[in-house]
Amino acid sequence: MYKSLHLHIEGTLEPELAFALAERNGVTLPYASRDELRRAYSFTDLQSFLNLYYALMAVLRTEDDFHDLADAYLARARAQGVRHAEIFFDPQAHTARGVPLVTVINGLARALDAAPERHGITTRLIMCFLRDESAESALATFEAARPHLDRIAAVGLDSAEVGHPPSKFREVYELAREAGLKCVAHAGEEGPPAYVWEALDILGVDRIDHGVRSMEDERLVARLAAEQVPLTVCPLSNVRLRVIDDLADHPLPAMLDAGLLVTVNSDDPAYFGGYADDNFTAVRDALHLDDATLRTLARNSFRAAFLDEATREKYLKELDAHQG
Ligand SMILES: [Zn+2]
Repeated sequence: MYKSLHLHIEGTLEPELAFALAERNGVTLPYASRDELRRAYSFTDLQSFLNLYYALMAVLRTEDDFHDLADAYLARARAQGVRHAEIFFDPQAHTARGVPLVTVINGLARALDAAPERHGITTRLIMCFLRDESAESALATFEAARPHLDRIAAVGLDSAEVGHPPSKFREVYELAREAGLKCVAHAGEEGPPAYVWEALDILGVDRIDHGVRSMEDERLVARLAAEQVPLTVCPLSNVRLRVIDDLADHPLPAMLDAGLLVTVNSDDPAYFGGYADDNFTAVRDALHLDDATLRTLARNSFRAAFLDEATREKYLKELDAHQG
């Protein structure tokens, strides 16, 4: 059983659902078939992935579309043993296309509200700002979301990292913290360790998403270990986006050896070749992780989740029982 802490709901759009929603909404996709679309999923870097990712979002128009997207993810997540999912969404990617924020939030929230009973999964929703958009756009998005903050557990920062340091978003993170939200940010994926420092010191984040490039900075590693800042590492994503050339060279074991609170996650599973269990299986095999290490990784994801302590303890007990 797993927690999924780094998962973009838009990145769970499988070709089958993309075509079904395109048909429902009268949207023409620039691919003749699902197979042709599948073949388009061969990226060379973060930007080439993002280009396809944003192109496919055109099929998401109505509240039902967002509901169906989230419900399909939750069903797959449960089949992979996920018990708790903290889910990113990118409001600006939808509002920029003329889809109202309330449509996005209501659709996702309807699926998430039903998830404990329907799929046996608890969830949190994390609203991400697109870092390649302006700080003003992030602020406007946050203000537009204010009436819905009871549905949102945290804010995050994603999309093209290089050239868009966390410090650009100081103000909106201050507002989010004042509003009682948790804070996370993608940092140290393609960007340098300096971005991880900024996320910690300027944005005051509770978790770092990715953070693999932290390993280039000894002082940063010591800080992350001392403060037990959770890092939501996404191994298959790192390989597909060429952050790491080969899974066998992934720094995950070195990160664990350094005492970092590392978790394993799927990022954009429809695009990167796998959901939670696929990522665990892949790192287990490629990095020859033993059972004790796999248990540590599973426990870490529960320790890093945005849960009240009673719920966290309940899950950790279940995990211990599950793993014998
Ligand atoms: Zn991500």
